[in-house]
Amino acid sequence: AEVKEVEIEDSLESVLTLLQHKLSDRITVERRYEGPKRITCQPGPLNQVLMNVVGNAIDAIEGTGTITLATGRNGAMFRLSVRDTGHGIPAAIRDRICEPFFTTKPVGSGTGLGLSISYSIIQRHRGRLEFHSDEGRGTEVVIEIPMDGASA
Ligand code: ADP
Ligand code: MG
Repeated sequence: AEVKEVEIEDSLESVLTLLQHKLSDRITVERRYEGPKRITCQPGPLNQVLMNVVGNAIDAIEGTGTITLATGRNGAMFRLSVRDTGHGIPAAIRDRICEPFFTTKPVGSGTGLGLSISYSIIQRHRGRLEFHSDEGRGTEVVIEIPMDGASA
């Protein structure tokens, strides 16, 4: 895939616009954009990751809740945190969520491929994908990728 410089906040806003129909009024989105504005990456694949991770955050919230998008940096890495106040990831399945076809969603609403694809895209960028989850309280997904795209 081609490597380009992107305005990462614009990418995040596009993803929110594309997912607006699933967000409705029940979910408040908080933005803490404190990181670099531009990063070099594979824009198509990275957007796929963002769509999936933000989509998962929305799906995890039954009723009302909040999603917080925070950008930052960690040395030479761009850091994105996507936090939701949803149902969390049960400890029993934590090790399996990145496996292809693993889903807890009803038949027809989840393919179980999102995180497995996201994981390989982040690996290709020589980045990191981490989950911190508190069952019943919510989940934070942290993505870190090199800002300069040197290895993307
Ligand atoms: P899908 O979204 O099609 O189910 P994914 O690979 O994107 O597939 O996610 C796999 C599973 O990981 C989900 O079905 C869900 O059980 C769990 N999961 C992912 N993100 C979250 C989240 N933010 N909160 C709770 N569970 C999550
Ligand atoms: Mg998904």
